[in-house]
Amino acid sequence: MDGNIQAPIRIRAGQTNLYLFTIQDGLLLVDAGTKGSLKRLEQGLASHRFHLEDIRLIVITHTHYDHVGGLREIVDRTRARVLVHAAESDFLCRGFTPFPRGTGLLSKGISLLGRSLLRKTGRYAPVFPDIVIDKSLDLGPYGIQGRIVPTPGHTAGSVSILLEDFALVGDTLFHVPPWRIYPPFADDEPALAASWQKLLETDCRIFYPAHGAPISREFFNRRAKGEGQRAKGIGQRAEGIEHRAESRGRKAEKG
Ligand SMILES: [Zn+2]
Ligand SMILES: [Zn+2]
Repeated sequence: MDGNIQAPIRIRAGQTNLYLFTIQDGLLLVDAGTKGSLKRLEQGLASHRFHLEDIRLIVITHTHYDHVGGLREIVDRTRARVLVHAAESDFLCRGFTPFPRGTGLLSKGISLLGRSLLRKTGRYAPVFPDIVIDKSLDLGPYGIQGRIVPTPGHTAGSVSILLEDFALVGDTLFHVPPWRIYPPFADDEPALAASWQKLLETDCRIFYPAHGAPISREFFNRRAKGEGQRAKGIGQRAEGIEHRAESRGRKAEKG
């Protein structure tokens, strides 16, 4: 790791951060924000002397509406290709992603609302992806040292982009409020804990979340011991429940 890659450009579009970094023949954009983010993106690009047409590839960290709601209008204005994980490509084609599960008391309530009364918030203009991945992808062919890796947990198709010193992690880390990083929503918490482990095993020094400010490795490490343990506990409990169910099943078979 020689740290040659410059830190990504961060554009704040409402509640969601969009990130840009240079690849071989233009720019790679990470996430598209909510509907209407195009204007903020254009302003951000202009302040760095770039244009919309410079975007060559759009990597979607996952298909929640606050990450893909603005995708259609960006795709219509560029020749960029869209990359998404296989577990969520059908959602993107349909223009609907189910509301995620809450990880806390409040977010569990919001999730319940999101899945029932507020179901419409999961809808967005559909987009057909150009590249669908189901394992990690080397970015070498795009002229940059790095890779896209699956980091499931927040959603089944969540991915992170690892670039030498930096990682762009979508909602796998969630830096709002600023004293915590555990996502308020996650469909699979044990998988999320494994993805945190995977990120901590990289050499990355700074982790860029889609919500909130960048996270240092030190802070991530510290929080992982507190908040991350919680997720692992849930994993162990889930295993325990499975175990008990299995032995009950065996007993029932015998009986
Ligand atoms: Zn999300
Ligand atoms: Zn989000």
